[in-house]
Amino acid sequence: MKPFLELRNVHVWRGDEAEVHALRGVSVTLHEGESVAILGPNGSGKSTLLKLITGEVRAAYEADSACELFGEELWNLEELRHRIGVVMPEEVQRFDAHQEAFETVLSALRGAYGLVRGMRFRAVEREAAWAAVRRMGIEPLAGREYGALSSGEKRRFLIARALVHQPGVLVLDEASTALDFAAAAILMRALRDLHKSGTTLVLVTHHPAEIPPEVERVILMRGGEIVADGPKRRVLDSRSMSRVFGVPLKVSWHRGWCQVQG
Ligand code: ADP
Ligand code: MG
Repeated sequence: MKPFLELRNVHVWRGDEAEVHALRGVSVTLHEGESVAILGPNGSGKSTLLKLITGEVRAAYEADSACELFGEELWNLEELRHRIGVVMPEEVQRFDAHQEAFETVLSALRGAYGLVRGMRFRAVEREAAWAAVRRMGIEPLAGREYGALSSGEKRRFLIARALVHQPGVLVLDEASTALDFAAAAILMRALRDLHKSGTTLVLVTHHPAEIPPEVERVILMRGGEIVADGPKRRVLDSRSMSRVFGVPLKVSWHRGWCQVQG
């Protein structure tokens, strides 16, 4: 099977004057069927890596570099949405607070952030949106106003949006940041169920405790570089974590979950 993402020696510059070297010679290959976590401190380049997938940032040209999705350099974003669902944290604020929560999911079928006049949906499309809502267990909330939902509920609606086209790969940037214990636990359950039903997860986080036991591969980033990539118990040890986060950390494991103490 072709990898869904293949980066070779990728450099990305960000900022108004392209003054920030956000990715520095990154090479990585991700395959469908293998869920991964991308872990690193704030500013290490994790979101920039995901924005290469959404097309929000572009790699700088280097003679020996490559940035391919499903084996091709250029992608039509509309087509890509059917294969990779991406949820970025800044999307939470894009919706009108007064719209019905279900409409946030339905509008994803048109690549929009809410319904506009004249948008029509066929019965099969509405059913696809409901199916995504059911997968996230948010049916009882679908008739509420979006603005009245809690942060955890909003995150689950965003994930349902990303699922409307039934993509094989779901990419989540900092999915459980700023959620309370209950909301984070409900979200984690939903992600584990998606994994179980065959969706490949790419989870970006700065917190190892947010990596579910099913995710075996961890990519560790620091300063725009990948500093380790492999089986999580090898990548996430006390030495590498202390080095990457810059403070002494002690890593232990409990039933497949990583625990970190300062
Ligand atoms: P992470 O997601 O790991 O926290 P990012 O990919 O967001 O890291 O950021 C990587 C680097 O790029 C950081 O130094 C960050 O400050 C910089 N950066 C990110 N977005 C922008 C932007 N819009 N303008 C300028 N610099 C940016
Ligand atoms: Mg980020």
